[in-house]
Amino acid sequence: MGAGFLEALRAALPGLRVLTAAGEVEAYRYDETEYLHPGVPLGVAFPRSTADVAAIVRLAAAHGVPLVPRGAGTGLSGGATGVEGALTVVMTGMAAILEIDQANLVAVVQPGVINADLGRAAAAVGLFYAPDPASFETCTIGGNLAENSGGLRCLKYGVTRDAVLGLEVVLADGTVIRTGGKTIKDVAGYDLTHLFIGSEGTLGIVTEATLRLRPAPPPSLTLLAFFATVHDAGRAVAGITAAGLVPVTLELMDRFTIRAVDAAMRVGLPADAGAMLLIESDAGVGAADELDRAEAACRASGATEVARAADPTEADWLREARRKAHWSLEQAGVARMDDVGVPRSRVPELLDAIEAISAEAGLPVGVFGHAGDGNLHPTFVVDRDDPTAEARINAARARIYEAAIALGGTITGEHGTGVAKRAYLEAQRGPDAVRVMRAVKAALDPQGILNPGKVL
Ligand SMILES: Cc1cc2nc3c(=O)[nH]c(=O)nc-3n(C[C@H](O)[C@H](O)[C@H](O)COP(=O)(O)OP(=O)(O)OC[C@H]3O[C@@H](n4cnc5c(N)ncnc54)[C@H](O)[C@@H]3O)c2cc1C
Repeated sequence: MGAGFLEALRAALPGLRVLTAAGEVEAYRYDETEYLHPGVPLGVAFPRSTADVAAIVRLAAAHGVPLVPRGAGTGLSGGATGVEGALTVVMTGMAAILEIDQANLVAVVQPGVINADLGRAAAAVGLFYAPDPASFETCTIGGNLAENSGGLRCLKYGVTRDAVLGLEVVLADGTVIRTGGKTIKDVAGYDLTHLFIGSEGTLGIVTEATLRLRPAPPPSLTLLAFFATVHDAGRAVAGITAAGLVPVTLELMDRFTIRAVDAAMRVGLPADAGAMLLIESDAGVGAADELDRAEAACRASGATEVARAADPTEADWLREARRKAHWSLEQAGVARMDDVGVPRSRVPELLDAIEAISAEAGLPVGVFGHAGDGNLHPTFVVDRDDPTAEARINAARARIYEAAIALGGTITGEHGTGVAKRAYLEAQRGPDAVRVMRAVKAALDPQGILNPGKVL
C-alpha cells in the first residue's frame, strides 16, 4: 500500500521533495516529547503550495495512507510525532508572508512562517503580532494555530485563537475551503475557523491564515519580585488579578528554575529566592502606575525584594532568561515539561499541590510558566539513566492533572492533548463531550487519515 502510494505521489507531483531513507525519515519522527515512542513514517513530504497539499491528501485518501501534518516539531504533546506507515507532511516550505495589510491591520501568511519572523515583519511597519510562545524563534504559525498556542503576552492580548480572522484549510478528501477573511465581524454560519484552531492537525491541514495585527504598543516597563516561597508568589498572582490589573506579562519561576536559569545564563538572580515573578506593563503613560500597583500586591503577599529593570536591554535579557527556563532545566538532566492550568485565584493551591506531589514522589520539579493566565509548567528533572523515572513521573503527573481538575482547571493550558494527554481527555471533558468530538472527527475525516491517534 505504502509503496504504491509513494509511486503515485511521485508520478502526480514530480517536483515534490519526498524523503524515504531511514536516516532521513528518523529526523522527523519525534517532536520535543522525547519520552514518547512514535511510529516510523513511511516518508516525509515538503509541499510548496496549497495545490501540492490538496494533491497529497487526495492521493493519501485514495490509498488509505494516513498523514501527519508537521511544522517545526517544537510541540510538547506529541502532535507531530510519527505514525507508523504514515506520510509526514512538513509545512516549513510554505513560509511566505503573503501580505501585511496596514489599512486593515491584518497579515496573510502561509503556515510555515516562523512566529518571530511575522513579529519582525509587523514591527517593521509599526504593527504587532501578539501571540508569542516561548519557542517563538523556532515554532511555526501552522503549529501555533493547530495547538492554539499561548505565550508571554497572552494575558493582555489573548492566545493564538484571538488573533485569527480566517483560514484556508485542506480537508481530509483534498477539498480546499476558506473559513473567514479580513473582516473583523463575520458570523455567517458555524464558526469553522475556531473549530480548526486547536484541532492539532486531526481535522484539516491549514495552508493559509489571515491574522489580526495591532498597532505596536509602547515599550514595556519591567518589574521583578522575589518571594520566600512559591506559595507567596502564587498569592501575589491572585492579588494582582483581584486588583483588576492586566499587565502584558506575569510569569513565574520557582527556586529550582531560578537556580537552573542562573547557572545556565548568568543573569545574577538571587540563589536564595524561593520564587520570582516577572511583571511587565506596556500601558504607555500608565505603565509606571500599573507596576506600582502590581508591586503593592506583591508586597502585600510577602515579597522579600522588588526591583525594576534599569533599561530595555536589561528587560530583554530578563525576558529571555524566562524564555530559556525549559532549556536551562534541560542542562540539569532530562527535563519533562508539563502543562496545567487553573483559574487564577487558585494558582497558590495548584503550586502547593505540585510541591506536595513532587515531594511524595521524590521527584525534583521546577515550576515556571504563565502564572498570570493560571498556566504553569511543572517540569520534572531526572537522571538520564534512572530506569524508574518514567513510571514515577507518569504516576506523579496523573496526580497533578487530578489536582488541576479538582481546582476547576485543565490538564493542558496550551501544549495540547496530542498523544501525551489523550488518556486524560475524558477525565477532563467527560464522556459526552468526547463523543461529540468523535462525531466532529468522523464528519470531517471519515477515513481517519488525518493525524490518527492524536487527541482522540
Ligand atoms: C522551549 C519551548 C518553549 C515553548 N513555549 C511555549 C509557549 O510559551 N506556549 C505554547 O503554547 N507552546 C510552547 N511550546 C510548544 C510549541 O512550541 C508550540 O506548541 C508550537 O505552537 C508548535 O509549533 P510547531 O511549528 O513546532 O508545530 P509542530 O510541533 O510541528 O506541530 C504541532 C501540532 O500542529 C500540527 N500542525 C502543524 N502544522 C500544521 C498545519 N499547517 N495544519 C494543521 N496542523 C498542523 C501538527 O500535526 C501537531 O499536531 C514550547 C516548546 C518549546 C520546545
